[in-house]
Amino acid sequence: MSNVIQVSAVRRVTSEGATYQPLSAQAETFHVMRSSKYGEAVVYHPATMTFYEVSDAAAAAVQSWEQARLTRSTLDPAADALAQRVLAVLNAMVTRKPPVTEDEEEINTRRLRRLAINVTQVCNLHCPMCYATDDHQGSGTYGSDVRYVVPSVPEQSFRRMIEYYPDGIDMIQFHGGEPLLHPVGIERACASILAYCKANDVEPPAFAVITNGTCFTDQVLDIIARYGIRVTVSLDGMREVNDINRPWAAGRSAYDAAVEGLAKIRARDLGPFTIECTVSKPHLGLNLVQLAEHFQSLGATNIHMAPATVTPEHPHWMTPDEQDQLLDQWRDLFDTVMDRFATPTPLYLRTVLGRISTLSGKHREKHLCPAGTNTIAVDVTGNISACFMFTGMREFQLGRVQGRAQHDQYRQRQDRLMHTLLSHPTLCASCWADGVCGDCSAGQYITNMREQETYPVSCRYDRLLIERVILGLARLQRDPDLWARFKRNYNGAPEDDVE
Ligand code: SF4
Ligand code: SF4
Repeated sequence: MSNVIQVSAVRRVTSEGATYQPLSAQAETFHVMRSSKYGEAVVYHPATMTFYEVSDAAAAAVQSWEQARLTRSTLDPAADALAQRVLAVLNAMVTRKPPVTEDEEEINTRRLRRLAINVTQVCNLHCPMCYATDDHQGSGTYGSDVRYVVPSVPEQSFRRMIEYYPDGIDMIQFHGGEPLLHPVGIERACASILAYCKANDVEPPAFAVITNGTCFTDQVLDIIARYGIRVTVSLDGMREVNDINRPWAAGRSAYDAAVEGLAKIRARDLGPFTIECTVSKPHLGLNLVQLAEHFQSLGATNIHMAPATVTPEHPHWMTPDEQDQLLDQWRDLFDTVMDRFATPTPLYLRTVLGRISTLSGKHREKHLCPAGTNTIAVDVTGNISACFMFTGMREFQLGRVQGRAQHDQYRQRQDRLMHTLLSHPTLCASCWADGVCGDCSAGQYITNMREQETYPVSCRYDRLLIERVILGLARLQRDPDLWARFKRNYNGAPEDDVE
């Protein structure tokens, strides 16, 4: 019997059922990527996370086969015969490769990567993109009347999570609203958690903060220095775009304040920092490469640029043409990042580094994102939820930090979420990118992605990102010198300290 791959019906299952067997985990799945810009054609095999450069004719044949498989249609006999010949060769190669690995545990129960604690639920800016309010005016309250963290909550949160994750917690990340509006809350949280660790012989966590960058007073900088807090500043562009996306009081520029704050962080040598940029409608027509270079010039060692999540009612919602235009801008950015990897001036983007890490580690991500498994959040009054983006949403609550620990209830709620609202949407089951993709569960929830039958723009972005990374890796691999330079730069890339 030949090893020719049969066109089989795609199984439409979701992880809500017990048998989540996505197309991307099946040995017979191949996905074609072609780039006219680079004259490149690659066939990717998700089950082994390997890829192979092929001629354009071979790629076109497999692409037709892939399309027919997904749409359950039949190819004409000549095209099918050519596709089967190419697939037979590819199949012989992939059978020699080990399948990718995957975590055995459905939910991580020993060690928590990130505990996010809201120290405020109020903000000084009025960002239309803020997920913490639904009025597009960004007060950062998540609908709560309590604005500042109850003093006992941070330490209670740490203790509770140590009960649920006995091997420890990697990082406490302070969130808001704007967390730096409450430096005393951050200082008290760090001091009490460290005191608890010392008294109980517990490994202390790293501390981090995500801020809009407008509140770097001397008091704040002293606290950052004292506790080694890693800083991520949200900056959505150069002055004009940032101040449209992150408006402050009349006459005040959030961009100027953030840039001044970052200069102080550099001057005081307070460690590497990340700039996080949410890309949306105001970025249409902008050169995203220049923007990333601008963030680099401000001293950011890690740059995180990701698309905004908005609903059709939001002023930043884009028409299909605008979505296509922005995806073209993303494509140029990803290609540049991949090409710059082999140069003396690499441009590190967290999303690109993350996808390379998954592909090179050949490890399937079991969940789309860390929410509910590797990220847990606590609000200002002590409610535990699956992610800071789910603060105040009852359906994502996992319990409270006060009172007695309720292990069984916590695990049951977590498990239920991972098999319902945080499970893979139906579309993922037939998507070649599943296992590498890192879409945001909160974004999916907000935009009703679970109900959609065609790939929304967030999926098109993720699939584009993975494709351009794979095509870039294939180009680099062609030349041993380029590959060696890539490996040197990749190994020297800043570590991702967040997700
Ligand atoms: S790109 Fe979309 S459909 Fe594909 S795996 Fe990611 S979330 Fe699922
Ligand atoms: S990807 Fe989105 S939902 Fe997942 S942990 Fe990050 S912010 Fe939360």
